Amino acid sequence: MRIGILGAGQLGRMLTLAGLPLGMRFRFFDPTPDSPAGQLAEQIVGRYDDTAELARFADGLDLVTYEFENVPAACVRYLAERLPVFPPPIALETGQDRLAEKTLFRTLSIPTPPFAAVATFGELTAAIAGIGLPAILKTRRMGYDGKGQFVLRTPADLDALLENGIFTPEETDQAMGVPLRTSRGEEGLFLLEGLIPFERELSILAARGRGGTTVCYPLFENHHRQGILRRSVFPAPELTSELQTQAEGIVTRLLEALDYVGLLAVELFEHEGQLMANEMAPRVHNSGHGTIEGAETSQFENHLRAIAGLPLGSSDQRGHAAMLNLIGTLPDSASVLAVPGSHLHLYGKAPRPGRKLGHVTLRTDTMEVLSERLKHPQICVIQGAS
Ligand code: AMP
Repeated sequence: MRIGILGAGQLGRMLTLAGLPLGMRFRFFDPTPDSPAGQLAEQIVGRYDDTAELARFADGLDLVTYEFENVPAACVRYLAERLPVFPPPIALETGQDRLAEKTLFRTLSIPTPPFAAVATFGELTAAIAGIGLPAILKTRRMGYDGKGQFVLRTPADLDALLENGIFTPEETDQAMGVPLRTSRGEEGLFLLEGLIPFERELSILAARGRGGTTVCYPLFENHHRQGILRRSVFPAPELTSELQTQAEGIVTRLLEALDYVGLLAVELFEHEGQLMANEMAPRVHNSGHGTIEGAETSQFENHLRAIAGLPLGSSDQRGHAAMLNLIGTLPDSASVLAVPGSHLHLYGKAPRPGRKLGHVTLRTDTMEVLSERLKHPQICVIQGAS
């Protein structure tokens, strides 16, 4: 089977590592040369709007998938006219627009924070009156790792929007109809959400095969700093069957509504025993990297099995795992590997502040031992540095 993958980052690299033992061959498409996946498999370097290059990419492939969720919709539609594309393009397009995504949650009765689309300063004021403060203003598109987000706790925080260039002081003096603008100059593409005082952040990952069979992983507990995922614990500590059932209900409704094939991740807030969906990612997900060692079948292998029409593997946990992202700088490999139960994954990227360069997974048989290992001096160094 020859699989084409749009995007050639670390997710593509780990998909390759999972697919090679299954006899799969990979070809990547990404504008950046020498990317993490391109170091392992064939890569076509091209722009996502270059149809000649896309045609060259598609030639001889059996199917296409994607590991980068901001692939332009037109690129995916072009390929979908020629080849099977999984997950379905509609899932990608929905996930690219927070308004479409949250509207889908609402349509499917999936609890989500209160939200309103805002295009102008006047609409922002009206949305604040409706939703109340604290609230969070997000760009509808291209936001990731907390980028393009502004927390509004008091009316004075609107000033921060001025400082961030969302609109200029002259404009606020003008009529309320002045459009809000993203830093890239797009107008009117914002969403205001109520800020949820959640106890913790979780994610549910599930794979759905071509025939509709589904497997759900136990929930992941996720810890962020400055909007970037730092640590995921699998399964989430103190996971009750009630919580797991709620999460599976949420992800299953989405999988069925989208007639989904592949792996889908949904980021969740837990608040007073109830789950709310924050966002979905129609691809393998950073919180699930611990499944490589910590589950019977990794998220990467199950994504590939799903899109290739193969039977899905068990999502059962193998002990307990904590995944730690290596962000900005890399630790000394030898000292990481000296920690019992540790596994090092490097993505072949040059260090740069804020960049995900790799991850470490600690896998143990019990949660008690995992908690101890997380206090290991070398692990503390990693967590402090990241
Ligand atoms: P997002 O880009 O939507 O995943 O948001 C990044 C992070 O911001 C989330 O992981 C949360 O920690 C926080 N966040 C986003 N939306 C909300 C919300 N409505 N209420 C509280 N925290 C939020």
